[in-house]
Amino acid sequence: MKLTILGCHSASPRYNSNPTAQVLEVRGHLFLIDCGEGTQVQLRRFKVKFSRIRHIFISHLHGDHFFGLVGLISTFRLLGREAELHVYGPKGIKEAITIQLKLGKSWTNYSLIFHELGGKEAELIYQDDKVTVHTIPLRHRVYCNGFLFREKLGDRKLNIDAALKRNVSMSYYSKIKQGFDVENEDGVLISNNELSLDPDIPKSYAFCSDTAYQPEIIDQIKNTSLLYHESTFLSEHEELAEKTKHSTAKQAAEIAKKAEVGTLLLGHYSGRYGNHEVFKKEAEQIFSNVELAADGMSIEF
Ligand SMILES: [Zn+2]
Repeated sequence: MKLTILGCHSASPRYNSNPTAQVLEVRGHLFLIDCGEGTQVQLRRFKVKFSRIRHIFISHLHGDHFFGLVGLISTFRLLGREAELHVYGPKGIKEAITIQLKLGKSWTNYSLIFHELGGKEAELIYQDDKVTVHTIPLRHRVYCNGFLFREKLGDRKLNIDAALKRNVSMSYYSKIKQGFDVENEDGVLISNNELSLDPDIPKSYAFCSDTAYQPEIIDQIKNTSLLYHESTFLSEHEELAEKTKHSTAKQAAEIAKKAEVGTLLLGHYSGRYGNHEVFKKEAEQIFSNVELAADGMSIEF
């Protein structure tokens, strides 16, 4: 998986601090997660081939998470897009987007398909033979979901050296990857264990923004490879965090520790703090593997 941060700040966009948007590359997909104002500019700036985006996941209807969506949809139209575009987001997102397209007489010439969400429990909202996407119910001032992206366990890997050594015909290679024992050219049955290797361990990514401290998500995101968790505030503003239904860096680290994730990525910083290192320092007192999101950064995992 490869995650590129297009924006990781809260509230209003500013020069060099963009609101939330990320792209996740996984098994041939390019998923867009949230779409704050200016996302299409960031996509161009960081040279993301955004015509490849087929699925957009919107956590909630606060402006810093979706005000870039109508602009991006409109640009796709101007670029002559033909491929379907699926948008997953809270109930009301279809109306919020379509009224603007309607009043501007700017209907898309491609299929725009909305999947409106209203469930309070985690639900499977997308899957194919390689990946699944579930909602992660969060606790915010408006209805809000995070998203959990998981690779499915792939086929076994061909041990080409073993296959050549044991004189197995190439025509059996796909059977070997599927886990079958096969006969070699001399008619001897060879066990699959001798000809194949374990598949890669499936990776997973949990996106959790925006939310108050919500330990209920821990079971669902247990052992996730990478967790992006908002940390709008530091502990000194814990009361403000609870009031605005956001989290502190310490609370994000508590979630990461209890969920035993691989890496914690912090973001959605309030503009009141000058230096983001203070978020990292606070989180590292609880959980050791902490990274700070920054606009334009990519992480492969
Ligand atoms: Zn919000």
